[in-house]
Amino acid sequence: MDYQQLIEEVYQEVNDLNLRGTVADYIPELAKVSADRFGMALIDLNGEVYGVGDYQEPFSIQSISKVFTLTMVFHVFRSKLWSRVNVEPSGNPFNSIAQLEYEKGIPRNPFLNAGALVITDALTSKSENPVHSIREFIDELAGQHCVRINEEVMHSELLHAERNTAMAYFLKAYQNFDNDIQEVIRTYVSQCSIEMSCEELAKAFSYLANDGYSLFAKREILNESQSRRVNALMLTCGFYDESGEFAFRVGLPGKSGVGGGVAAVLPGKFSIAVWSPELNEKGNSVKAIKALELLTDKLKFSLF
Ligand code: GLN
Repeated sequence: MDYQQLIEEVYQEVNDLNLRGTVADYIPELAKVSADRFGMALIDLNGEVYGVGDYQEPFSIQSISKVFTLTMVFHVFRSKLWSRVNVEPSGNPFNSIAQLEYEKGIPRNPFLNAGALVITDALTSKSENPVHSIREFIDELAGQHCVRINEEVMHSELLHAERNTAMAYFLKAYQNFDNDIQEVIRTYVSQCSIEMSCEELAKAFSYLANDGYSLFAKREILNESQSRRVNALMLTCGFYDESGEFAFRVGLPGKSGVGGGVAAVLPGKFSIAVWSPELNEKGNSVKAIKALELLTDKLKFSLF
């Protein structure tokens, strides 16, 4: 399979469709990104990089960071983690607070904001300097110093963190939050403000395409069974209330962020990251999803 030719074809076809969406503006600083950016990078299991468009330009990874913090915490707490967060798709938007009440402070899954806050809280209990640990971990996964925190994006989100802060208080009311709320929110917002390129992100995701062994860190990050579980969560919950549609159209485990990025894997074959800032009403990148749909169509191959 000529992956370079494949992604170039996909890139061209998606561009020709002139798909439009809206750049996220609830974090005001994110709205400053040029809407026409578009790039994709694919890394095969030999570590070979294939890229097209703006694949080396850093962008705000936002909720894609939740996969990295989940991995760190899963590695430490193992199956005990699932007493604090469930593994069910929610059918609700990423920032929904509604289910937290009837599910007694146990978020439906680790990719909703509520679940990700529990994960960052768990990480805070185990790390002296969680932001530093997250940065080091992602750098290691990508095999290079690549993680930058965009301070403007971070401050911009901190000024609008009422909803996430409310969720943290709610979790605390159900004894599912151990650390100082402001500290955890700061860490969460910092992890969301990390900037990476498609190439760096695809490299950092290689362990999920490779049974938990990272090609770039050159070590086992998760064991095979844990790696399969993270992929199962990405497939069922990675796109919030559009997860079913993503599985239907694309058929790969993946994770989106409101910066317009999507990172996905085809286990045993490759990891891939696509970025285009314009989002649909579910907060997922319009072009990135289309690109991955065309990719698996052309490959005639998906998880299924
Ligand atoms: N930082 C964003 C938030 O918490 C991340 C959301 C996302 O990427 N879906 O609202």
